Amino acid sequence: MLHFVDEFETCNVKIVRHNIGSFGVNTYFLICKKTLETAVIDPGGEEETLLSALRTEKADVRCMLFTHTHIDHIYGADGLKKSLPGAKVMYHSFDQPVVDATPDMCAMFGVPVRSMPKLEQDLMTEPEFSLGRIQLRSFLTPGHTPGGVCFYIPEEKILFTGDTLFKGSVGRTDFEGGSGSELRKSLDFLIQTIPDDVQILPGHGKYSTMGNEKASNFYLRVDRWR
Ligand SMILES: [Zn+2]
Ligand SMILES: [Zn+2]
Repeated sequence: MLHFVDEFETCNVKIVRHNIGSFGVNTYFLICKKTLETAVIDPGGEEETLLSALRTEKADVRCMLFTHTHIDHIYGADGLKKSLPGAKVMYHSFDQPVVDATPDMCAMFGVPVRSMPKLEQDLMTEPEFSLGRIQLRSFLTPGHTPGGVCFYIPEEKILFTGDTLFKGSVGRTDFEGGSGSELRKSLDFLIQTIPDDVQILPGHGKYSTMGNEKASNFYLRVDRWR
């Protein structure tokens, strides 16, 4: 099974990326360097590998964050939760219909059914939170799914974009609950809100920056969908 790992650091955070499984999802460890408090973002499977890597980091895992709840992003969530019961499950409740459709999605992709652990912090009512010394904001960016979010750390100039924005592309909108016009609005919001020097960490594929995407991503052209 394909699985590659890489990492980088800013002043206050360490980011470890595991690219996991047949869906090629980017699972991230977001680690506060001062306290080792850690968020696991979009655990895509291969739980034993992730758990062993978290032990190597001496990570104090406080939460699991979900950019959205398609199966490729939640496939390892239940397994991790069993080993890390204190890791709070956080997503936006507009994605609850996507969670409820997980068995159908698993059938559609021909993979064994996995369940999603119960929502413990709704990003709709609590969009801002801290992890050690790090302050995070989640922005609702629907379009790929109704409750898709981006996680922003302004001080470290990092944005986790899930399947909303990729290097050179954007998320598909043809799944249940997807909407091209909503995605357009979400991308407009990101263009207006996120400075050019912010690093983009997407749910699949390579890293980029907001400036690069504004300059070269066909789907961010203002006239694209109008
Ligand atoms: Zn998705
Ligand atoms: Zn995905």
